[in-house]
Amino acid sequence: MANARFTDRLSLERRARLAAERLLAQRSEELYAANRKLAVHAEALSKQVIEAREVNAELQGQTSRARAAMEAATEKAIRAERRLWDSLRSIPEGYAVYDKDHRLVHANPAYLRPFDGVADVAPGASYETILRICVEEGIVNTQGMADATWIDKMLARWEADEIPETVIEMFDGTFVRFTDRRTEYGDVLSLGMNISETMKRERELREARDAAEAGSRAKSAFLANMSHEIRTPMNGVVGMADLLRDTRLDGEQREYVDTIRNSGEALLQIINDILDYSKIEADKLAIREEPFDLEQLVQDVYRLLSPAMRERGLVHEAEFDPDLPSRLIGDPGRIRQILTNLMGNAVKFTDAGRIAVRVTRQAVDGQTVTIGIEVEDTGIGIPPGMIDAIFGDFTQVEDQRNRNYEGTGLGLAITQRLVRMMGGEIRVQSTLGQGSTFRCTLPLGLPEDQSRAADALPPGFRIRLIDQSEGMAQGLERSLRKLGAELVCDDERADLALWLVTDLPERFIEVIAASGHTGPVAVASVIPGLTLPADARAHLLTLPMRLSELRIRLTEIAGAGGAGNGVDVTPNEDPEPPAPEPRRLRLLAAEDNKTNQLVFRMMLKGLEIDIDLVGNGEELVSAYAAAPPDLVFTDISMPGVDGLEAASRIRAHEAETGLPPVPMVAMTAHASDEEQDRIRAAGIGHYLSKPLRKDAVVSAVRSFAPEGVALD
Ligand code: ADP
Repeated sequence: MANARFTDRLSLERRARLAAERLLAQRSEELYAANRKLAVHAEALSKQVIEAREVNAELQGQTSRARAAMEAATEKAIRAERRLWDSLRSIPEGYAVYDKDHRLVHANPAYLRPFDGVADVAPGASYETILRICVEEGIVNTQGMADATWIDKMLARWEADEIPETVIEMFDGTFVRFTDRRTEYGDVLSLGMNISETMKRERELREARDAAEAGSRAKSAFLANMSHEIRTPMNGVVGMADLLRDTRLDGEQREYVDTIRNSGEALLQIINDILDYSKIEADKLAIREEPFDLEQLVQDVYRLLSPAMRERGLVHEAEFDPDLPSRLIGDPGRIRQILTNLMGNAVKFTDAGRIAVRVTRQAVDGQTVTIGIEVEDTGIGIPPGMIDAIFGDFTQVEDQRNRNYEGTGLGLAITQRLVRMMGGEIRVQSTLGQGSTFRCTLPLGLPEDQSRAADALPPGFRIRLIDQSEGMAQGLERSLRKLGAELVCDDERADLALWLVTDLPERFIEVIAASGHTGPVAVASVIPGLTLPADARAHLLTLPMRLSELRIRLTEIAGAGGAGNGVDVTPNEDPEPPAPEPRRLRLLAAEDNKTNQLVFRMMLKGLEIDIDLVGNGEELVSAYAAAPPDLVFTDISMPGVDGLEAASRIRAHEAETGLPPVPMVAMTAHASDEEQDRIRAAGIGHYLSKPLRKDAVVSAVRSFAPEGVALD
C-alpha cells in the first residue's frame, strides 16, 4: 500500500517535474527570444548613433566651410567696392549717386571739382541745392537764362522717367554732357562727360564742310559762268557759219565754213561735258522723272547723226521690242545724252558697215520696267586691255588708229555715271578690228495711264502701206500702228496710200495710177533730198520722223486729199475760193548782244514776218505793252531787267488786262536743268539753247505762229 502510494507520489512528482521542465523550457525560449529582440534593437540603436554622429560631423564641416567662404566673399566684396570707388575716383568723368529723395549719396572728385570745396555740396545735399550753388557761384553758364528759370528747367528734366541728356557749358568754357539714369530703386545715377574736344572737332568739321561746299559752289558757278561766257560769242560763230552755209559758196569755201561750224560744235560739246562732269562730281545733278517716248529719242539721235552716217555710207538699224511700253517715265534729257554718247561713239569709231540700236524690255516689277539698250557697231573695236579703262575719266584709247578721233574722253565716264545714277548698269563687249557692243540697263517708270489718245491718229484711220524699200517697212509699220492706224490691203478703202521707197520708182506717176488707189498719196523715204516730180500730187515724208510729226503730216495729207481726190497727172487747178489776204506774224525779241541780234535777224530772213528787236528786259516789257506781238523770243541774261523778270512782268500784265498768254521762247547760253526750271517758273514755256541753230529758230517760229498768219 505504502508502495502504491509511493509509486503514486513518484509519478506525481515525475509529472510535476516534467511540467516544471516544460515550463522552464518555455520560459527559457521566451527569454531567449526577448534577448534576441533586445540585441537587434541595441544594434539598430548603435547604428543610429553612428549615423547621427556622422551627420553631425558633416554639418560641422559644412559650417566651417561656409564660414570660410563667407569670409572670402566679404573680402572680395570689399576689394571690389574699393576697386570700384578707386575707379570712380580716378575717372575724368563726373559721377554721382542721388537717392530717391534727390539727395546726394556719393560723388566722385571729378563731379565735385567745380564746387571747389563748397561745404554745402556733400552727401545729403539736395539736387536743388546743388543747382542753386551752380548758378550762384557762377559754376555754370546759363546761356543768358534767368537763374530761377534754369534751375526749374533742370529740375523739370529730372522729373521725366527717362531723363533726357543735357549739355552744360561750365564757367571755364568746357562743355559737359550729363547722362542721368534712374535705377529700379529710385536712385539717380548721374554721369557728366567733358565733350569740349568732340564739340570742337564737330565745329571744325562743320566749318571744313561749309568751306568745301562754298568751294564747290564757287566752282560750279565759275563753270556755269564760263560756259555762258563762251556760249555767247560761240552763238555768233556757229550762227554765222550756219547762215554762211546758206549762201552761194564754192566747194572749198563750203569746207571752210563746215570746219568752223563743226569746230564750234565740238567746243560746245566739250564745255557741256565738263559742266556735266563737274556737276556729277559735286552731286549736283538731279535725275528728272517725266513721261517720254524712248523710241522717239532713239530716232531723234539717229536723225542728229544721219549726216555723219551718210558721209561714210553707214547703214543704221533700230529694233524695238514689241512689248516695249510706248511711254516711260524717266529723264529724257539724260537718256538722250546717254544715247548720243553711245551712238555718237559708234558712228565716230566706225568707218564702214552698220550701227544697230536694239531696245528690249527685260523685266517688269510693279510700276518699274527695266529696259535694255544695246548699241552695236562694226568699227575699230577696243583692245582687250582697255575695256575696263574706257569708262574712266579722260580716258581715250591712244593708238595709231584712233589718235585722229576728236573727243575729251569724258563721254563714257559721264554716261556710266548717268546710267548708275538712274539705277542701271553699263557694259561693253568688243573685238579689235571687228566692232563693239555697249549694253546698258535702265530701270524706268511706267505711267499710270498707258493711253496715248493725244498722240493717236483719228480712230479708224486706214492706211494702205506699199513697201518698195526692200524690207525697211518694219519700223514704219510699227510707228503707224503706234499711232493707231489700221493697215489695210490693196483692194480695201483707205484714207491714205503710203509708199515706202528707197528710191523713186521710174515713171512714178504711172505706177501710182496703176495701183488703183484713188485717195491721197504719201511717199516716205529715208533718202534726204529726194524730190517728187512737180506734177505728182503726192506728199513727201522724209524718214525718220518724230511720231508726233508723222501723225500731224498723215492727218494733214489725208485731210488735204479728201475722198476721191486721186492721183492727178495734171497740175492742180486750185478749185478753192481765194483765201483772205493773210496778215504777217509780229515777233518781238530781246537780245543784248549786237552780234547775236544780227544772227537772230539773219536766221529769220527767209520768213515773211515783222521782227521788233530790243536790247534788254525793260524795253521788252514796254514794247510788249505798247503792241502785244504774236510771239516773244527773249535772251535770259541781260543787263538790268533780265529775261526772266521781263517774262514775269509780261505774264502779270496779261493777267491784269485779260490778254491771252503770248507764246514765249527763251534763248539762253546757260545749259542747265536749274536754268530750265527757272525759265518755266517765269512763265516761259519754250526754250532754245545757244548757240542757236537756224533750223531750230525757224521751226519754233513756225510752230508757235497763230492760225491765219502767213510766214512765207
Ligand atoms: P571720247 O570723247 O574720246 O569719245 P569717250 O569717253 O566717249 O570719250 O570714249 C573713251 C574712249 O573709248 C574713246 O576715246 C575710244 O578710244 C573708246 N571708244 C568708245 N566707244 C568706242 C566704240 N564704239 N568703238 C571703239 N572705241 C570706242
